[in-house]
Amino acid sequence: MSSPTLRAVKGMNDILPDEVGRWQHLEQAFRGWFERLGFREVRTPQVEPTSLFVRSIGEATDVVEKEMYSFRHHDEELTLRPEGTAGAARAYIEHQVKEKSPVSRWYYLGPMFRGERPARGRYRQFHQAGCEVYGDPGPVVDAELIDALVGFLQSVGLQGIEVALSSLGGPGARARYRDALVEYFRPHAASLSEDSLRRLETNPLRILDSKDPGDQALVAGAPSIQEQLDGEDRAHFEQLRRHLDALGTPYQIDPRLVRGLDYYTRTLFEIRGNGGELGAQNAVCGGGRYDRMIEELGGRPTPCIGFALGMERLLLATPAVSMPTAPLVFLAPLGERAQSECLLLARELRSRGVEARVEGRGQKLKAVLARASDARASHCVILGEGELDRGLVALKDLRAQSQQELPRAQLVEHLCSQLHLPLPEPRH
Ligand code: AMP
Repeated sequence: MSSPTLRAVKGMNDILPDEVGRWQHLEQAFRGWFERLGFREVRTPQVEPTSLFVRSIGEATDVVEKEMYSFRHHDEELTLRPEGTAGAARAYIEHQVKEKSPVSRWYYLGPMFRGERPARGRYRQFHQAGCEVYGDPGPVVDAELIDALVGFLQSVGLQGIEVALSSLGGPGARARYRDALVEYFRPHAASLSEDSLRRLETNPLRILDSKDPGDQALVAGAPSIQEQLDGEDRAHFEQLRRHLDALGTPYQIDPRLVRGLDYYTRTLFEIRGNGGELGAQNAVCGGGRYDRMIEELGGRPTPCIGFALGMERLLLATPAVSMPTAPLVFLAPLGERAQSECLLLARELRSRGVEARVEGRGQKLKAVLARASDARASHCVILGEGELDRGLVALKDLRAQSQQELPRAQLVEHLCSQLHLPLPEPRH
């Protein structure tokens, strides 16, 4: 009996070498942009104790209730990270980073895992690039971050950028808003979806996030959090708005903005785009303040703000860029002695910045030349027994369709000057 065909897990994608160039370009652009704002990379594990996500993201959220890849290993309850903020916060606390410096700026890049229903732009393994600022209550840093994000997204070619902005206030506002929502939704309990009915008791804010069309109709008339903000929350939000206005960074206030994670306080934002093949999943980035998380996870009180952007969505939405590549040279050895010599020559060429490919499988010269042309190589070095005995090599210029013989010892210099490559560093 033949074994079943093996396939990647649904919603988890291979990124083949042809596509990786675009990823690397975007990753480098992200690193460069945010390092200029003082962010430094952190790398945390992809697996964390399940309790970390339950405590930070919140028990009554879709992510924790339905989407986590959790498993027991020996006697540990573990989860593949569904997002990056919780793990970074754990590391921040565990390594007592606050003791060394009152403010830290970290960024991360990497895969996240959520068991969502796969669609274009929504996957079960996806990649996020995110930033976290620890120890700064804002609102100056909030404006700086949102403005920097918009600048970054413009720089990589995202079109139709829209920033949705809100403030969720502090714990007081949250509690008052919760009561206001329960009061509003309770008379409509019979028309709520099963999930929302349950959340009416456990976490009414999550009803605002519901994807059920019946719930959404009710949500449209729900009270706004803005009415519940206290004086300090309001002043924080208004200052943030003034900074954004001064920067000329456009935003729309969206008083019903809720995001799928429970940890946000005060500033909350989402950035959408409309370019390329993005389609319905047009949120490319989400973020906000989470001033209480570090304390709730056992650290010292530390105000924080962060965001995460979805790399797949950004790639869907932005145009392909042509990446600069190293010049390419093929080497065609004809016979075994020539093979070793070509390996040596290739090593020298690579040390000078050339991509050199030794065709060592014993094919006919014609086949090697055809492959070299297909690969858009500039030259092919041909080395047969005769050339070897005379200390020569044949060099075919594939662009000019010309061929010449030259001394072996001159080959590398000759090629490098043809390819306009710099002279080697002088040895000391
Ligand atoms: P979140 O961590 O839920 O705040 O999401 C931040 C960003 O990550 C979103 O705006 C999306 O761009 C991206 N994202 C979230 N979930 C997924 C997913 N399942 N597939 C692809 N991208 C996602």
